[in-house]
Amino acid sequence: MIGIVLAVLLIAGLLANGLRLRGRAAALPTLSGEESPAGDASDAAEMCAVTADGVNLDDVTRRTATAYAHREGDDLVDLIPQDLPVTAARDLMRHMSPPDADGPGNGLGAGSALLVVPAVLDRAEIPDPGGITTPDLIGLARRIKHYARDRESLVVAPALHAASGDLTRRRSRLRASGTIVAVDLVLSLIPYALLVVEAFLSWPVALACLAVFCLQPYLIFTGTSLRPRGLHVAALLRPLYEPYVWVRTAAGQWKSATDQENAAARLEAREYYDAELAKGVERFLEPRRETCPWCESGDLSVLLRSGDLVYRKPGMFTLERCGGCGHTFQNPRLTPEGLNFYYRDFYDGIGAASAEVIFTTSSHDYLARARMLEPVATPKRWLDVGSGHAHFCAAAREVWPDTVFDGLDQGAEIEEAARRGWIAHAHRGGFPDLAGEIQGIYDVVSMHHYLEHTRDPFLDLDAAAKVLPPGGHLLIELPDPEWRLGRRFGKYWMPWFQPQHQHMMPIGNLKKALADRGLTPIAEERAPAHQHNDFVTATYLWFAGHAPDHTMPWSAKRRTPPRRVWRGMVWTVGVPALMTAYLLDRTAGGMVARRSGTGNAYRVLARKDDVADG
Ligand SMILES: [Zn+2]
Repeated sequence: MIGIVLAVLLIAGLLANGLRLRGRAAALPTLSGEESPAGDASDAAEMCAVTADGVNLDDVTRRTATAYAHREGDDLVDLIPQDLPVTAARDLMRHMSPPDADGPGNGLGAGSALLVVPAVLDRAEIPDPGGITTPDLIGLARRIKHYARDRESLVVAPALHAASGDLTRRRSRLRASGTIVAVDLVLSLIPYALLVVEAFLSWPVALACLAVFCLQPYLIFTGTSLRPRGLHVAALLRPLYEPYVWVRTAAGQWKSATDQENAAARLEAREYYDAELAKGVERFLEPRRETCPWCESGDLSVLLRSGDLVYRKPGMFTLERCGGCGHTFQNPRLTPEGLNFYYRDFYDGIGAASAEVIFTTSSHDYLARARMLEPVATPKRWLDVGSGHAHFCAAAREVWPDTVFDGLDQGAEIEEAARRGWIAHAHRGGFPDLAGEIQGIYDVVSMHHYLEHTRDPFLDLDAAAKVLPPGGHLLIELPDPEWRLGRRFGKYWMPWFQPQHQHMMPIGNLKKALADRGLTPIAEERAPAHQHNDFVTATYLWFAGHAPDHTMPWSAKRRTPPRRVWRGMVWTVGVPALMTAYLLDRTAGGMVARRSGTGNAYRVLARKDDVADG
């Protein structure tokens, strides 16, 4: 009986995943000969070509691709060789943004050949890279695409031939794709492991499962425009081929130029962190407050204590809750120097690539936020405060194509956002400091997951009230400290996010603070703002805590072969746990949100009263 249930699950999983990847492969457009105006060489001169070592971009493909870009109005085309080696092709289908994804997408390509107009290269400040390896080109293409108009730039080129599929470089290629290699390997091990278990339970049923397992690669690629090299071996001999790929990947020591640069950057950063840590981290905390910063009540109690669970920089932090108003805040709070220390390398430097991955995978939430304005106003000029790289603005333009989006933030990312064209104008600095200069220009101001990071949220609310003209709208999204499951997860509930989150306010507190400033709340969303990720993030934080990344420059320990093996073992258990957590988020977590009418986040939309400063 168990054998049958397992077989049904396994076959359903293989088919569902195969069809999912097939959908992506089938949606890829193909270059055809018709696009090439005969002998028109002037077009081809307009785009720069960047090709990987071992890839020869022939003139016909180049001209055809340029004509394609002209017809589609694209300033960038990322070419996929039709004969991409089967493992690389499957990795690309697994990791690329789905064709119907909203927002900027992850920009993942095959790393073979790229055609791009010079203006985009200029904006991205990238000189001609010359000879480049496939993993480096994958990373470079992802960066360049941030500056291009169109993110759906993948096109299959029938005449382009891929470089040889060197599995010793796969590890580096997966890293360039923004994947955690250990997690990726364990994921691909799961159907194989289930197949082995099935063989012990019932070998005739296992044979049926084996057949589906072997046919899955055909299901993904047959009848699409891709003709992966080595497809038959990878399919018909899959029980042998797959372990071979894992071993070659796990053993791969080859490092791309990007890998070497990243390792060097981490090594260099050690100097700073060693010096700072030698002075101790206690100095980064102010004296503890005796009263609530929201209502001045003295009725405070400790909610939880937690270290930095994401990056594991040394230090211990305390969240206290006010019995008077329910406000939760970091107490003692960090000094400005402390904030600098803990924010450093999180959204920029060493952490920039990981932060980018997270921001590009939450576009569904971005659109839902933007749509909250639909019933009440048509925004003309929209200021997003705490914008970072302005991923929200890049996505929100799909809902509001005629709106001018500007961004405001402290870091250099906001200027890069303007160069990418994701915002029209960048304001760099603190919102309360800049409020005087930008008064009355914007009819919408948004703050998404911003106020909880500020040292004094009242100052930013004052600034919003000052900047908006009468009738203007303020849109705020925050994690909800009243969310039921939040307490259950203890310090592993992601939104407690120490040490970055300074303040967590219940929705009632926020609405009252808005009303006090002449900003009348007119709409709110609680369950619809719920993000289905509590179980996954808590599970991830728990497992990551048991297998820290010792290559980080603040890590007291160094990476050694036994520690690498241990990390692999932890994720062997961790990945199935993450998959279970994912299912719980989609079922139990979502159900609690629907039934309770609340979620792990909330949104409030407020309108500035007509009587100024009312
Ligand atoms: Zn209070």
